[in-house]
Amino acid sequence: EASLKEVKDSIGAIHDYPKPGIVFRDITPLLQNHDAFKSSIDALKQRYEKSGVTQIAAIEARGFLFGSALAYALGCGITLLRKPGKLPGNIVSQTYALEYGTDELQMHENALTSNDKVLIIDDLLATGGTVLAADKLIRSTGATVAEAAFVVSLPELGGEDKLRQAGVACYTLCQF
Ligand code: IMP
Repeated sequence: EASLKEVKDSIGAIHDYPKPGIVFRDITPLLQNHDAFKSSIDALKQRYEKSGVTQIAAIEARGFLFGSALAYALGCGITLLRKPGKLPGNIVSQTYALEYGTDELQMHENALTSNDKVLIIDDLLATGGTVLAADKLIRSTGATVAEAAFVVSLPELGGEDKLRQAGVACYTLCQF
């Protein structure tokens, strides 16, 4: 599809960031290109407009950018999954393993109910650790996870396989 090619072509590659040997996929050129950004949101809108999704769960920070535009386009709410210490209310929390150490995602405890059908959004899927933590957090409220959607996936890092094993459906606009 021409429009998804435009999305893929607008993603930058930064070599040796954040560490030597890593190629960081940079979505900032996509955000600066109105046509490419619009194509990314239009593709997601098309996929989810008849899905019955009630909330988008967006992962801090770049997931917020795509999640808020998509929530506006779909006419649904957006739930923020944040790094520790950012949310003012009572929270539920999920830790997950990183290459070195652990990280944590938090959500307001009353943000979702068992009536919610939730679409998880982030900019990029790498090992899948972040999105699996998001999935656990959302399901702990009784809500259903419809799917997890990403602008970019890096299949070699195993995230798509990990999501498949966990039974979480996944959709990506482009892969590297
Ligand atoms: P995972 O938990 O290993 O799947 O890593 C995904 C998380 O790390 C997402 O929240 C991404 O924003 C971030 N991330 C990892 N690698 C990259 C990259 O190359 N570009 C942009 N974000 C990345």
